[in-house]
Parts: sequence; C-alpha cells; structure tokens
Amino acid sequence: MKNNINWNFDNTYSKLPEPFREKINPVKVKNPKLILLNESLAKDLNLDFSEISQTELSAIFTGNELPKNSNSIAQAYAGHQFGHFTMLGDGRAVLIGEHVSKNNHRYDIQFKGSGKTAFSRNGDGRAALGPMLREYLISEAMYALNIPTTRSLAVAKTGENVIRETQLEGAILTRVASSHIRVGTFQYIAARNKKGELETLFDYVVKRHYPEIENSKNKALDLLKVVLDKQIDLVVNWMRVGFIHGVMNTDNMSIAGETIDYGPCAFMDIYDPKTVFSSIDKLGRYAYCNQPVITKWNLSRFAECLIPLIDKDQDTAVKLATEIIDTFEKTYEEKWLNMMRAKLGLIGSDKKDKYLILDLLTWMHQNKVDYTNTFCHLMNFKIQEDNIYEGTDFSNWKKRWQERSSSHDNSKEKHKKLMRSTNPLLIPRNHIVENTLRDADQGNLEPLLNFLKILNSPYTDQKDISEYQILSSSNENYQTFCGT
Ligand code: AMP
Ligand code: MG
Repeated sequence: MKNNINWNFDNTYSKLPEPFREKINPVKVKNPKLILLNESLAKDLNLDFSEISQTELSAIFTGNELPKNSNSIAQAYAGHQFGHFTMLGDGRAVLIGEHVSKNNHRYDIQFKGSGKTAFSRNGDGRAALGPMLREYLISEAMYALNIPTTRSLAVAKTGENVIRETQLEGAILTRVASSHIRVGTFQYIAARNKKGELETLFDYVVKRHYPEIENSKNKALDLLKVVLDKQIDLVVNWMRVGFIHGVMNTDNMSIAGETIDYGPCAFMDIYDPKTVFSSIDKLGRYAYCNQPVITKWNLSRFAECLIPLIDKDQDTAVKLATEIIDTFEKTYEEKWLNMMRAKLGLIGSDKKDKYLILDLLTWMHQNKVDYTNTFCHLMNFKIQEDNIYEGTDFSNWKKRWQERSSSHDNSKEKHKKLMRSTNPLLIPRNHIVENTLRDADQGNLEPLLNFLKILNSPYTDQKDISEYQILSSSNENYQTFCGT
C-alpha cells in the first residue's frame, strides 16, 4: 500500500489493560467497494487519498487492508438501554486507531459494521447499507449545523448480504470521533468495582479530553461539571434545530459531548414537543421535549460512577455530586432561553422573553406549524405555507416580537445576523432522507450526493432549495427504525 495518505496513528486507548478492550481485527469482506468518501473531512484530518486507486480505497475502508501503525480493538462498555442496565461493548465496530492531525487534534478512526467481536452477543457484527448511509448523511448535516458530532469519512459496501427482515447489502461506515468513550464506558468499569480500573479510566479521560481540570482540587467533581455543561450545550443545540436523537441510552452519550450513534434519529417538522419517530420508543422516553430530562438522568448515572473518586466518605461524595446534578435545570433553562432569544434575534434579556417564546411555541403547536419554516418566515424568507402566518393570533404575537426586537440596543443588522446564524434554512427533511436513501439503495447515488451538498450550507441562502423546505404530506406517521 502507498504511504502517502498521511495516516499518523498514535494509539493510546488500545494500551489500556484487558477489561477496557478486546484486541481484534476487522473481519475481511468478500467484495469491497467504496461508495462515499468525505474529501473535505479527509482534508481537515490532513489525509490525502488523491493518489490511491479505487481498489485500494475499497480495501482500506472495509478494513481488508489496515494502515501501518493501526492497532485494532473493540471497546468494552455497558449502558442503560431504555432504563435497563446491560453489558454491551462494540458488537459490530472496531476502532482501528487514533489519528493525530497536523494541528495536534486526536481522532478515533472506527469501522462500524466490520464483523463480530467479543461483544457481539447474538448480533452478526454487520451493518446494512441504508443505515450506514443514513448515519453519514445526518452526522454530516449535524456538523454543518454547527452541532458537536462524530463524523463520517467513508461508506464502503462489503459485497456480502446481511440478513435483517429481508436480505440487504452490507456496508461499513468509517466514523471519526473525538473519542468513543461514553457514560456507558464509566458504567462498565464502575460495575467491576475495582477502584484502580476506575482511576485508570478517569485519568485517561481527563488527560485526553479535559486537561484543563488536571490540577483542580476535586478533579472528579470538576469532570462531572464539565461533562454536564457540554451535554447541556449539546441538547440545547438539538432543541434549536428540532433534532430528535431517538435512542439516548447511556451508551450513546459521549463523554466528549458529541452527538453519537445515529440510529432512529430524525428532525421534527410540525412543532409538537411530544414528537417521537423511533418505532421502538413506544412510551416516548426519548421524545423531543424529554431530551433535556433524559440528559439529566444520564448525567446522574455518570455521577454515580464517579462517587468513589469524589470523596472517601460516600455520603459526602453523594452530597457533592447531587449538588452538581441539581444545577442542571437552572443552567439548562438559561442556556435554552438564550438559544431561543437568538432564534428570535433578541439582544439582551427581558423578563417577558420567556412568555414571548412560549407563546410562539404554543401557537406553532396548536396550529400544527413547521418549526424550521416558522423561523424562516420570521427572517422574511418566502416559504410555501406562508398563508399560515396571516391570522390574527400570529399577527398579534408578531407585533409583540417586533417591539421587543427593537429594544435593548438591537440594531436591525445585529438582529438579522443573530437570527441568520441560529436558524437553519434547511434541515434533512425526513421524506427527502428516505427518498435519497431509497435511490442510493437501488444504485443511484446522485440524489444523496446532491442532498449532502445542499445540507453542507444550511444557513446560506442557496438557489433552488425550496423543494428541500417543503414538508411531506404524509409525515404524520413517519417512523424510524434502529440502525442495524
Ligand atoms: P446501538 O443501538 O447501535 O447503540 O447498539 C447497541 C449495542 O448493540 C451495541 O453494543 C452495539 O455494538 C450492538 N449491536 C448493534 N447491532 C449489532 C449487530 N448487528 N451485531 C452485533 N452487535 C450489534
Ligand atoms: Mg450505540
């Protein structure tokens, strides 16, 4: 293999002892074929694939050929899945190593769908093409929306079928992440009840992700604080664009604060706080409006893992951790309010802002109005369902908004700029996601590539995008399925 790709592996997680990971190579595949390569991400990573033939690329992105200095492992972790504690681990993913880019950023390079591991339980270790393309599409859309996320470098077909409800083409996604350490990683180690192992993981995480707390008085407490802050920022961002993760189990919550594991996720169109798309989420545990509540619940599970490191005295440790967890509501509300203010272009704060915001949301809910497009309308973009905004209730609200908008030293310019940088003109609409994936599954990648290109600049007023802003007429019963 040519060496001019610039891989720069420096693997640290694989050096952790046995309980943390299993050393394992991706299982070779029959007939590898690269179908998507993210050139722009490759560039950000200082990787250059331009000299590499399609055959070689296909071998690389299925793991048939491993880069020099990679060191493949499957990571061990546990997790609360829909509230129930389970031992999990990478059942179909292999971390081939940590690539360090020119600017000294460290990235996990992981193959998802690369064969069985010690953690596969009853699974086949494989992934189907559709869900891997879906993760590629949505994660890259999230990145362009300025939301912390794992990213997607490539999708390659394996040339082997996977058996689900029907036979489907198998594929491997190359996922790039700040790391794949999850709340569930801490839960797995904490459940083993060996303080030394917990300290090893803790020290590793502080060094890798939060070196700024290395010298703090109570590092464990500070780790809880920074992770809480990161997760609040993340969920506020999700609420901003109407993103519903769909499967916020503790094994799908990254310690680095990135959106991870794109399974049954989808974007809300008509504003309804109770929106759930996932077919397995019968009780709405992970509904749009429940996402902050669940974030706090997951953080509480994280806090439990840290108890032995917070204080020698368990009661003191619990008290200290609870104090941090109890700050969640106030911090969330503040950050959410500021985010909503930004969506409305409001500078400064006014006691009545909360009511102005809630009244708009209530109006959208009662009148079944699209969330994203309402903010487009407020930014004076013409959208198809413009006549919805002609009624008296909305006009009255708009007057209040306009009055508030011109207060607090808010120039028209500032107001507009704030709204334009907060409100996407485009989100990956569910029916378009489905249509492009269906075409891709039938061998036509063109619509998916087009869609990716458009989603790459969601805040820009691009030409001819109106068809991407229209809601599907049959969206009401839209369901997503777990990405297997
Ligand atoms: P997820 O719902 O994708 O977060 O996955 C939950 C757990 O199931 C993780 O431990 C996965 O590695 C595992 N898993 C999902 N699909 C498969 C599969 N096809 N084969 C083996 N393990 C899987
Ligand atoms: Mg997962």
